[in-house]
This record gives sequence, structure tokens and C-alpha cells, in this order.
Amino acid sequence: MCRHAAWLGAPRALATLIHEPEHGLLAQSYAPRRQRHGTVNADGFGMGWYDPARAEPVRYRRAIPMWADANLPALAQVARSGCLLGAVRCATVGMPVEESATAPFTEGRWLLSHNGRVERDAVRALADGAESACDSAWLAAAVFERLRTWPDLGEALAEVVAHAGEKDPGARLNLLACDGASIAATVWGDTLFVQRHQDGVVVASEPLDDLPGWQAVPDRSLLLASPEGVRVQPM
Ligand code: GLN
Repeated sequence: MCRHAAWLGAPRALATLIHEPEHGLLAQSYAPRRQRHGTVNADGFGMGWYDPARAEPVRYRRAIPMWADANLPALAQVARSGCLLGAVRCATVGMPVEESATAPFTEGRWLLSHNGRVERDAVRALADGAESACDSAWLAAAVFERLRTWPDLGEALAEVVAHAGEKDPGARLNLLACDGASIAATVWGDTLFVQRHQDGVVVASEPLDDLPGWQAVPDRSLLLASPEGVRVQPM
């Protein structure tokens, strides 16, 4: 299982998900605390954020351990946005270790990350192709395919997860996606936590620190966060 985290609210730096918290994504890359599958997340990392200078998000990803990128701390300090997403990867056995297999995947305004695994045959029918042979890349392609015809992030995630979960009952399908103004996430086989702040919300595979306020989101649910608030509904 990989680990992912997102922020929606007042503009913040990506470092607030990665380097600043005691158990942020950097610490989770070598010492995750709640991970059920795999011990370290050293097969790559990525992050995405929104800048007024571009219609589409900025995406930065590498196929090396997060701690090995000496340029990252400064970049994460100045990469600021009201909507942020970061991920560290522990590749599933048999999946390629390459940049194109690393989250976040992106198309248009959307960014998407996946914690888990799925038989690729369970999702191949939902998309024409994917940028990598990695199962997560196929899931992302399936979600983007749906979003092209009906741009509702929560519905797209729920539909793809329901389809893949039915075809592969052993699949773990925690997806986390955003569009610059909202976050949608599924909980399907792994942990997800939410922490509400006065000026926004953090959604993460596991708490980024030991401060109070982290709430576990129940398995088999869909979380939707927007400026109006956070909603969790069963799937
Ligand atoms: N199956 C995906 C991959 O190989 C995600 C792995 C994970 O969640 N650890 O990248």
C-alpha cells in the first residue's frame, strides 16, 4: 500500500503534507505507522497543486524514494495552493517501477492517487489505454474516461470502484482525487483519515501527526470535501 494525502482550504505549501508534520509523507515513505501491506514506500513519489498561471495542475513525480530527492524540500515549500495532493509509493509485486506508474495521475483539472491493488483485467474494459502497465494507471484511466462524459469526481470514483470491486473481490481500492475545488476519496480495503481545520481539511491514508482531531473514515465509504464541508457516505 502506498500512502497519500490531500489538502483543501486556504492556500498552503505542499511541505505541510510532506516535510513539516512529524509523520508527514516524508516520514511515511520510510516509517509509515498504519500500513497494512508493505513496509516502506520507496518506489517513487509525486505531488500536484494548482497555480493561477495554469488551467491545469502542476504535477511533479519521480521514481526514486522521496528522501533521495534533494531538490524537493525547497520546491515543496514554495508549491502553494488551496488544493494539494501528495503520494509515496510501494509498488505492488509485478508492477513496473517508473515515473508513469507513479501517482498522482492527471488529466485536465484532475489529479488522482491509488492505495491498493487490483487485477488489471477488472478495469481494462473501462478505458482504452493507460500510460503505464501499473494497475493504478489503469484505474486512473478508467476514472478519467468517465469524467470526460460526466465530470462528477465522487460519482466517477464510486462507479469505477464498484465495478472493479465486483470483478475482483480481493481488490483494495482507496482512491484520492481532486480538481482544484474539491476532494473525493474512497475507502475500500485500507485506512483513511480526515482532520478538519478552521481553514480547511486534510484527507490522508494515516495521520500526519499526533495532534487531536484525526477521524478514521469507515471502510466502504466515499468521502467528499468541498468549501461547503465534508460528507461521508456508504458505498
Ligand atoms: N498497486 C499500486 C502500485 O503498484 C499501488 C501500490 C500501493 O498502494 N502500495 O503502484
